[in-house]
Amino acid sequence: MTEIYTDSDTERAQLSNKTVAVLGYGSQGHAHAQNLDDSGIDVVVGLRPGSRSREHAQDDGLRVATPSEAAAEADIVVMLIPDTVQPSVYETIASELDPGDTLQFAHGFNIHYGQIEPPEDVDVTMVAPKGPGHLVRRTYERGEGTPGLFAVYQDATGEASSEALAYAGAIGCTRAGVIETTFREETETDLFGEQAVLCGGVTDLIKAGYETLVDAGYSSEMAYFECLNELKLIVDLLYEGGHTEMWNSVSDTAEYGGLTRGEDVVDREAMEAILDGVQSGEFAREWIAENQASRPAYRQHRRAEQNHEIEEVGDRLRELFAWSEQAEPAPADD
Ligand code: NAD
Ligand code: MG
Ligand code: MG
Ligand code: MG
Ligand code: MG
Repeated sequence: MTEIYTDSDTERAQLSNKTVAVLGYGSQGHAHAQNLDDSGIDVVVGLRPGSRSREHAQDDGLRVATPSEAAAEADIVVMLIPDTVQPSVYETIASELDPGDTLQFAHGFNIHYGQIEPPEDVDVTMVAPKGPGHLVRRTYERGEGTPGLFAVYQDATGEASSEALAYAGAIGCTRAGVIETTFREETETDLFGEQAVLCGGVTDLIKAGYETLVDAGYSSEMAYFECLNELKLIVDLLYEGGHTEMWNSVSDTAEYGGLTRGEDVVDREAMEAILDGVQSGEFAREWIAENQASRPAYRQHRRAEQNHEIEEVGDRLRELFAWSEQAEPAPADD
């Protein structure tokens, strides 16, 4: 069993004389910066001069500087800007990393795939809450926390691990529980999960189910409710009590039909191929090249997804229950 670290495993004093530069004030950035500040840690938010996030950070009572100014005064520099822009921003702050400083991430992509190569005399760590930023902030304010991960890629000082745990404590993660991972494991499982299950797999499952019903002559409204809307009820049951609670809560007919038919729709070989692409770096190379070319395929896929009939049906039907809980608002763009 993996060890789970909680508040009693952290030495908060380890951050007491340190300044943390949080680069970015989006989903994760605003939550880390405000939680650190409320935990009594000296924080400076690093943002470009024209960035719209500057106003948000200042309104929240935080000190704002440019990324390189923030990095210059900091002992811990936390990369909380989009993964695709981190390498170019890193170039502007690299010279501000002093021996013994820490370069910290919330996702391992750029280190694992060699897009950022820090000097050998700094600690390189990861603290990644397992949840979106608004939950990291909201749970902290309630005296609770979001579970999280930490990892050490490079330990120049001998204190990388305990410092990362102290940071996880200061943003509230050790109130819930933190597990140790590696940059490789976090990066590869994260990419696999979002491609095969959470984002890619689930949307394709929904579209395929919807199209199968509509093509067979059933109404698009019925197909929408059955294949998309009801998914929330099922996911809530899985989240609360695992497969057992979900199967216990649905009818015996649903349980028998699901248990005998469900596996037919999943292609395990295709899943293994997705994992191979992640492990070999093929996906990373493709995505890096896609970004260098200003994202032609990304735009095309995005447009096709937005134009799918299920989106129009869904917009119309969701109006009927518009009072339902809203998802996290999208972070302010620059
Ligand atoms: P985000 O997209 O919300 O970040 C937006 C912020 O980055 C804004 O403040 C913006 O001003 C700033 N920014 C954008 N372009 C910039 C540039 N060129 N120079 C300087 N600043 C720029 O980011 P996020 O979703 O919080 O992700 C940050 C990191 O956290 C990533 O490594 C991500 O993988 C990781 N992560 C995110 C989540 C999540 O729930 N969003 C969860 C775990 C880990
Ligand atoms: Mg420094
Ligand atoms: Mg993830
Ligand atoms: Mg991800
Ligand atoms: Mg049913």
